[in-house]
Amino acid sequence: MDASGLPLLDQRIADCRACPRLVSWREEVARAKRAAYADWTYWGRPVPGFGPADARLLIVGLAPAAHGGNRTGRMFTGDRSGDVLYEALYDVGLASRPTAEHAHDGLELYGVRVTSPVHCAPPANKPTPQERDTCRPWLVQELRLLRPTLRAVVVLGAFGWQAALPAFAEAGWSVPRPRPAFGHGARFHLDGLELFGCFHVSQRNTFTGRLTPAMLRDVLRTAARAAELPTESG
Ligand code: SF4
Repeated sequence: MDASGLPLLDQRIADCRACPRLVSWREEVARAKRAAYADWTYWGRPVPGFGPADARLLIVGLAPAAHGGNRTGRMFTGDRSGDVLYEALYDVGLASRPTAEHAHDGLELYGVRVTSPVHCAPPANKPTPQERDTCRPWLVQELRLLRPTLRAVVVLGAFGWQAALPAFAEAGWSVPRPRPAFGHGARFHLDGLELFGCFHVSQRNTFTGRLTPAMLRDVLRTAARAAELPTESG
């Protein structure tokens, strides 16, 4: 497969029903809705990756939020975590606008794609290990399709890190054993690829200051430079 296969992969992901608990949760949330979004038709399906098929930088999160990606159908769109991430991408020069409200708001990412190791919103933001493993083949296929252009990856949080490293190994990168440990600011070289760790942009981390706006921008800017993408200094 080559990069032209990515839109097709995204369509196939959006039709997946492999995890009974997550299928039932995402659809129940879409029916019940949050009062503030009562007039929305929720997406209620797996949320594919977002960004160009020839991305040089990949950002790997955890899973869509129940009333964010599961509502809007686009990664990190419509929730506080996404607000933090896209504002930072915009500031660094990697996005066309600082906000992400819905799937047709015109947001474009420049050389960057955003994905997650689990494509359905999980209860309490916690997929089971079995759900993580069931979803892994989608990430492996996405990585294989991106491989010709991909030069750097930012993984948000320890869950994403633990899920992503086996996927990189399966997709053909040499991942050392023991596997590199997650940490904010961690940086490792996998053949031809720079891998960066960053605390997740969750409300818990951003509200408490564990992840500050400056820390996030630093990691994104460093990773973009490693991927040889043009950035705004700041
Ligand atoms: S989490 Fe992944 S494997 Fe499970 S149903 Fe959703 S898309 Fe399919």
